[in-house]
Amino acid sequence: MGTRRDFLGKMSLTALSLPILYSPTSLFAACEQPYDGPMLRVAIMGLGSYGTRVAKAMVDCKRAKLVGVISGTPSKILKWQATYDIPQKNCYNYDDFDAIKDNPDIDAVYIITPNALHCEQAIRVAKAGKHVICEKPMAINAEEAERMVNACKDAKVKLLVGYRMHFEPKTVEVIRMRQAGEFGQPKFFQGQSGFVMGNPNQWRLDKELSGGGAMMDIGIYSINGARYMLGEEPIWITAQETKTDPVKFKEGIDETITFQMGFPSGAVASCLSTYAMNHLDRFYMTGEKGWVEMQPSTGYGPIKGRTHKGELDQPHSTHQTLQMEGMAQLIFEDVQPLVPVDGEEGLRDLKIIDAIYLAVKTGRKVTV
Ligand code: NDP
Repeated sequence: MGTRRDFLGKMSLTALSLPILYSPTSLFAACEQPYDGPMLRVAIMGLGSYGTRVAKAMVDCKRAKLVGVISGTPSKILKWQATYDIPQKNCYNYDDFDAIKDNPDIDAVYIITPNALHCEQAIRVAKAGKHVICEKPMAINAEEAERMVNACKDAKVKLLVGYRMHFEPKTVEVIRMRQAGEFGQPKFFQGQSGFVMGNPNQWRLDKELSGGGAMMDIGIYSINGARYMLGEEPIWITAQETKTDPVKFKEGIDETITFQMGFPSGAVASCLSTYAMNHLDRFYMTGEKGWVEMQPSTGYGPIKGRTHKGELDQPHSTHQTLQMEGMAQLIFEDVQPLVPVDGEEGLRDLKIIDAIYLAVKTGRKVTV
């Protein structure tokens, strides 16, 4: 794997052709330079598996810093305080975190709790006057997501969704190539997103907390990927569900769904979302002039990909570090990613998920 300096050397050649938006080049270049601008001071809510990963990644951020926690588990709070030097005044639980509004040392709360809790928690954070960063799926349906968008607008705070792939260098390069017309008119996307779900007792298999099954958790990557790889919004959806283990995957928890989407240009997408098969992390897109294949396409990396022009060689960097640097740049400098990570972006995915579930239920083609 190349060093960051090698990466900068290679990327400086392509930098000139990038739009004046976020690019991994500018982000890496910014990371290399001394930084004395504002620091995004973040409290993480939900100190679970992904929260732990984000916290570790933030240690390498220059523009964002973990300064607080919100947790229902006092022993975790103590451990995180010791690990990340978090003062007691920045520690909250789920009952008292509205008091964060009186804490001038926290700018943003990153919600990394079970999906069905995101909406209410985000609205409380917004009402406390703090920026909201929320994990995907941002909510469990479009109606909730719309309420979150409105609450953040009313409170004049940012609402960002943890779409880490929008900051991942190979993904960003593919989006840049598509925008530059290097694939020609995109025609077809195939997305395969899945893994075998282990522990049957976790919240992901409890509809009250997850809002759904594999689609909410992993299928959403194929939905979001189809949108950023094709550069369009779907206008119709068809979908079919298969369930081989109704004991593990109860009513309302989808095990496997295949779905198809049609786009205004005539492009189509064919996708698979599953909790029952491993080694499914692959995107393929073909256009009139070229193609791209990414596998793995959305895991923690390194992402691998090749196009009709050859291998994608942008080096790997920790996704969550890039994401938090990028989000800090977005908040303080209004540097926009090529594909947004705002509440409207999260809402679009949930409108599609709603339509997929409706298509499964009715067996009909659903207009989005
Ligand atoms: P975990 O179960 O590992 O952690 C969730 C944490 O939420 C818990 O540890 C707990 O923290 C808190 N929590 C609050 N209420 C509950 C409750 N009723 N039941 C269970 N936990 C509760 O989940 P993950 O960290 O894997 O997932 C959290 C979110 O992050 C999900 O929305 C998921 O989709 C998203 N995610 C995103 C990924 C990405 O790549 N972008 C990858 C993985 C997950 P505490 O004890 O501190 O209260």
